[in-house]
Amino acid sequence: MAKTVCVICSTPMPGEWTEYPEYPFCTKRCKLIDLGRWLTEDYKIPDAGPPRDASTPGDDDGQASTGSS
Ligand SMILES: [Zn+2]
Repeated sequence: MAKTVCVICSTPMPGEWTEYPEYPFCTKRCKLIDLGRWLTEDYKIPDAGPPRDASTPGDDDGQASTGSS
């Protein structure tokens, strides 16, 4: 299982996540920080990045492998 860390301060959270009442936050403090970010609208989920053109030319287009073995 991957190590669990606090989503706010990245503090390692050993043990089961059920041991943390404020999960996924290590402490209530971090939970409040997260809540504050939401309230200040500073916690915007970034988009998938700049819009990428799907028609970007690629080398793998039309160059199907022969598949001969
Ligand atoms: Zn934390």
